[in-house]
Amino acid sequence: MLTDLVQIRRLGQQNKSENSRFRAYLRNHRHSDRRLRIMAEEIESQIDCTQCANCCRVGEVPLVDRDIEKLSKFVGCTKDEFVRDYTQSAAEGGLILKRTEESGCVFLHVNLCSVYEARPHNCANYPHLVRGAGSIDSRMWEFLKRTEHCPIVYNWMEAVKTDIGFR
Ligand code: SF4
Ligand code: SF4
Repeated sequence: MLTDLVQIRRLGQQNKSENSRFRAYLRNHRHSDRRLRIMAEEIESQIDCTQCANCCRVGEVPLVDRDIEKLSKFVGCTKDEFVRDYTQSAAEGGLILKRTEESGCVFLHVNLCSVYEARPHNCANYPHLVRGAGSIDSRMWEFLKRTEHCPIVYNWMEAVKTDIGFR
């Protein structure tokens, strides 16, 4: 299992066009979504996210009202205060958790989430491989970029390519 983030970034970028071709291949070849999910569960169970936290460093976290309600209660402030102090506007519109130069997400302390119990729904489901709406097949487009920063997605993509006989 590859967990070195520098290598994952390099190999993920290197495999970019191959992974795009694989997405098209998957659409045109019979396969079991259940098997893709089981493989994702196996890989996820072998990776310790507290040793990684890369998604918290590199990813933007979109927020819905329910997240803001839960997080503001957790940190002990009003929703307006939470929006003022802990969020910023996303380039595409909407609110995301505030980002800092040092840690990425404002709530990441070293490798740990300081609001873990009240973390946004997007964080709880990340990388949206085992937990996500619809079939894995229909969500493949989401994973192409994530192979460059998430060890779970990178290792899963490589394992699935071999399992399905893409190479
Ligand atoms: S809220 Fe927690 S889990 Fe979500 S990005 Fe920030 S540190 Fe990571
Ligand atoms: S979800 Fe992926 S990027 Fe995020 S901490 Fe776990 S292995 Fe790392």
